[in-house]
Amino acid sequence: MPISTAQKRKLEKHIEEALTDLVEQINLASQSSETVELDQALAGRVSRIDAIQQQKMAQASLGRAKQEKHLLESVLSRIDCDDFGVCEECGEEIGIKRLMVKPESIYCIGCQQELED
Ligand SMILES: [Zn+2]
Repeated sequence: MPISTAQKRKLEKHIEEALTDLVEQINLASQSSETVELDQALAGRVSRIDAIQQQKMAQASLGRAKQEKHLLESVLSRIDCDDFGVCEECGEEIGIKRLMVKPESIYCIGCQQELED
């Protein structure tokens, strides 16, 4: 069954909420990577290593959050296309439940599993 307009709106709202969270995460992560740099001048050797590790983690999570944000934004930009929610592999519906969990899905669960094997 194709995804209804009401379902699309619900998904859209869900994605927008996720994006709000991501923007917050990105802001926090950018702040902590900056803070670490400022503190480094004052830090001793051991804490500098800690600081570098923390900074790496902050940068990694920043990278992931930015990538996720980009993916979700691209989902929003094509949510109103007629073929949105259709599996790129087999042409079947991906299903609203799967899209709610993973909005950036472009394959149905069956094809996804086959592609991962
Ligand atoms: Zn499929």
